Amino acid sequence: MVSWRRFGSGLRSARTGIALGVLAPIGMLAVSGLMLLDLRRDAWDKAEQTSRNLLQVLERDIARNIEMYDLSIRGTVDNLRAPGLAEAEAPLRQLILFDRAATARDMGVMLVMNEHGAVLADLDAVPPRSGNYADRAYFQVHKARTGLGLYVGAPILSRLTGEPMLPFSRRIDKPDGSFGGVVLGTVKLSYFAHLFGEIDLGHGGAINLYLNDGTRLMRYPAEEADIGANIAQAPTFRRFLREGRGSFVGTSVRDGVERYYTFTRIGTSPLILNVALATTAVEAEWRARAIVIGSILLVLCGLTIALSLLFGRELRRREAMRAELAALSRTDALTGLANRRCFEDRFARALETARHGAQPLSLLIVDADHFKRYNDRYGHPVGDAVLQGLARSLAASVHRPEDLVSRIGGEEFALLLPDTDEAGAQRVADKVHAEVSTLAVPSAGIGTGAVTVSIGLASLRPGGGRGAAPDLYRLADAALYEAKSGGRNQTRSATVPAAASPRGTLQLVGAS
Ligand code: GH3
Ligand code: MG
Ligand code: MG
Repeated sequence: MVSWRRFGSGLRSARTGIALGVLAPIGMLAVSGLMLLDLRRDAWDKAEQTSRNLLQVLERDIARNIEMYDLSIRGTVDNLRAPGLAEAEAPLRQLILFDRAATARDMGVMLVMNEHGAVLADLDAVPPRSGNYADRAYFQVHKARTGLGLYVGAPILSRLTGEPMLPFSRRIDKPDGSFGGVVLGTVKLSYFAHLFGEIDLGHGGAINLYLNDGTRLMRYPAEEADIGANIAQAPTFRRFLREGRGSFVGTSVRDGVERYYTFTRIGTSPLILNVALATTAVEAEWRARAIVIGSILLVLCGLTIALSLLFGRELRRREAMRAELAALSRTDALTGLANRRCFEDRFARALETARHGAQPLSLLIVDADHFKRYNDRYGHPVGDAVLQGLARSLAASVHRPEDLVSRIGGEEFALLLPDTDEAGAQRVADKVHAEVSTLAVPSAGIGTGAVTVSIGLASLRPGGGRGAAPDLYRLADAALYEAKSGGRNQTRSATVPAAASPRGTLQLVGAS
């Protein structure tokens, strides 16, 4: 008993082990998942910070240059009013006019033009390179409106150098306030190309510069069609305009790529700059790492779970085998009834219960009459068939789950009837005789009524007392002997009186 209990608790702890073997990897996966999410967050934080820093550096550089160009233009506008300018010789006039004009690698042309668009002065040439720019948009704009300040126009192709330039211009007012012409300073678009081109933004990344009317001034990396394209209607651009500065994830109308945009206006100018990182590039490194870590973890967890499940299956198989063996060790092979060992166990327990409780206990010992004759006459196999038939008859005679029908010897059976008094046991015995009387083995020519049994019955009344237990079997056996000697095919009873002494003054009761 103790070893079975130990086995049972061992089994329970093994089950707990299996459950842990399955749950622990799932927990590990969950924790790893959270860690990977954290790593992904880090990748995004890094991308956000990089974009912000980069945008700030570019914006400062561009803003500083625009300010420098504007100062040059404004200086020239002011110098136009210098006394004696008109009378000065051409080289001197050039010096006076452009004394505040900066020269830089990316500066394009700088021209002063009169109210008709004709060039009056040219920073790079004395006498000025002739030309008329009255048709240019910036000229028209200044002519039509006063007080515009610095005007930044859409990119143009320079008529002097043939290069694409961004025109910056200011209006010249005559003393009476009427339109007196325009001072133009241009910046080569290549300036932006150089500036952006030094930056590596990873696969799919881009830097864009827009005018606030949606015209793309520069893109890096650029294709021919990108420069001058207008994306005023794109949701991304509307957001740049609306918010002025910030960041968001959006899809490009240009190529449908999802990007993380960080954008800002450049100072007070009508320029908008953005740095855009492809979201796949932001997560590329993380994804590669996540795939490796995730795969290894999945394999390890899968193996652990599979091993735990296999172990569990093996355990269940063994348990089933053990249960089968246990059942077999308590079963009679010929009849399928409980065997003697099982009977003895149950009998001992039933006696124990009956001794402590208030329930009666009855025992029938059933023995086939003249059984030897069947063997002698029909052979052993027929004898076996009769024994199997008897087993069925006996099993059919009891109905309570706690009743036990067992084969305790060659042609000897025992019916253990807990919670059954003598009268009840007598009824069962009668049923046994009735069932056996219908038993036949047609193949051997044994008809009904041929097989009979003798039964010895003993009952233990409630409070039968200590020591009465071993006697119950002996009493039943003695009663069986009585039944045999009384002519067979009958039941004889013995009973233990209620106030029996430990060894019991046993009382045999009437024969049927
Ligand atoms: P009684 O009425 O006095 O009980 O006579 P009996 O012949 O039944 O009694 P006995 O004890 O002399 O003989 C029992 C016989 O049962 C002996 C044996 O041949 C037979 N027997 C015992 N076990 C088996 C078995 O497993 N199979 C078969 N076929 N016969 C068995
Ligand atoms: Mg017999
Ligand atoms: Mg016998």
